[in-house]
Amino acid sequence: MAVSTPLPSFDQHERPPRDKITACIHCGLCLDKCPTYRVLGTEMDSPRGRVYLIKAVDDARLQMTPNFVTHMSQCLDCRACETACPSHVHFGDLMEMARGQIERQLPRPWPQRLLRRVVFQELFPHPQRLALLFRGVQWYQRSGLQRLVRELQILDLFPGVLKRLEANLPTHLPRPFTRSVPATLPGAAPVTRRVGFFTGCVMDGLFPEVHHASARVLQANGCTLWVAGQQTCCGALHMHAGEREQARALARRNIAAFEQQPLDAIVNNAAGCGAQLKSYGALLAEEPAFAARAAQFSAKVQDITACLAQEPLRGPLGSVPKRVAYDDPCHLLHAQRIRQQPRALLQGIPGLQLVPVTDADFCCGAAGIYNITHHELSMRILARKMAHILAAQPEVIATGNPGCMLQLRTGVQQAGLSIPVVHPIELLDASYQAAARE
Ligand code: SF4
Ligand code: SF4
Repeated sequence: MAVSTPLPSFDQHERPPRDKITACIHCGLCLDKCPTYRVLGTEMDSPRGRVYLIKAVDDARLQMTPNFVTHMSQCLDCRACETACPSHVHFGDLMEMARGQIERQLPRPWPQRLLRRVVFQELFPHPQRLALLFRGVQWYQRSGLQRLVRELQILDLFPGVLKRLEANLPTHLPRPFTRSVPATLPGAAPVTRRVGFFTGCVMDGLFPEVHHASARVLQANGCTLWVAGQQTCCGALHMHAGEREQARALARRNIAAFEQQPLDAIVNNAAGCGAQLKSYGALLAEEPAFAARAAQFSAKVQDITACLAQEPLRGPLGSVPKRVAYDDPCHLLHAQRIRQQPRALLQGIPGLQLVPVTDADFCCGAAGIYNITHHELSMRILARKMAHILAAQPEVIATGNPGCMLQLRTGVQQAGLSIPVVHPIELLDASYQAAARE
């Protein structure tokens, strides 16, 4: 990022809280769990080093130099350091606030400003525009243009980011879930819960089959689903990129959207979205008009595996005889502290063998759009992840976040293999379907 002089320090608007900074006792227990430290081996790319840098800026001993910005932006925001930290340092909050300071105070070059404006303001907050984009991608794939572009290597003529985006697209895009179902999907009798279903943008557009599987499983387990029509992007990408005002605007829209109906829970199946939805209470705590509503909203948010774990699964379940490697999405494990529920769900499927994966709690390198903005580093982190997953010799890989699914599919492809990468709920859905066939 190009910066002008004099370089600023933190200002008072959403300054990283002093008590959260000084909670770090420099013990270093987080270092071993930090993917960037493990790959780069530099202290300033470890959680301890980053907290030290944030403290130095807070003390006005350091300005927000390009070096400072680099170490902040190289963080995956995976929050593995929070799980490891005995002092309960809220590292995610510190990092997101530091990035908020960077974005407000340091002007980016105009091409970056334009790109960020398009992505964060013009695209993700507008479901119709996203749907239009996904329809365009669908046409690109089905018309044969994609094959032609790849054969002629046309994308080599454009910035690398475009080629990486294109390479990450699923090979076939079905119709988005939100365009295929009515607003209300009735649960099987006896209905025990009425839940709002959060569809998000990436999961809805790129993995609608995960939503269909989720809906079928929830319905089979006595949940009536309400797909709120006015819902929008959760704002996780905005939050991680330091675009805090836009993240708040999206939070207000989602809260208003899900207040239209009485709900027992608001269920989602994307770890990144779930973590962000659960943070609305804190994000809007200072806004009198929204503080209580945001806290109520966040208290109702549940990952689908946690929702299903509340009651014994209804049967019958059929056999899915597969060796499955489960990889924890960081924002499920470290941000939401959900570890056991997805594993229990998979272990409950007849015939399914859950194989242990070394460092399953380690980030895969996807981290929102990190695999695009920090491609080389992301691929090094992915290589380490894939070595561990493939050592378990799985027939199927399961993970509960669309970014992780895309990233692991890239890893499988790079290894020259064809192992399916699915959401755990798709395996449970397959089990119900197998029972119906049996
Ligand atoms: S959030 Fe992840 S990448 Fe960033 S410092 Fe913590 S462990 Fe390292
Ligand atoms: S584990 Fe926590 S207290 Fe120890 S160095 Fe890391 S962030 Fe600081």
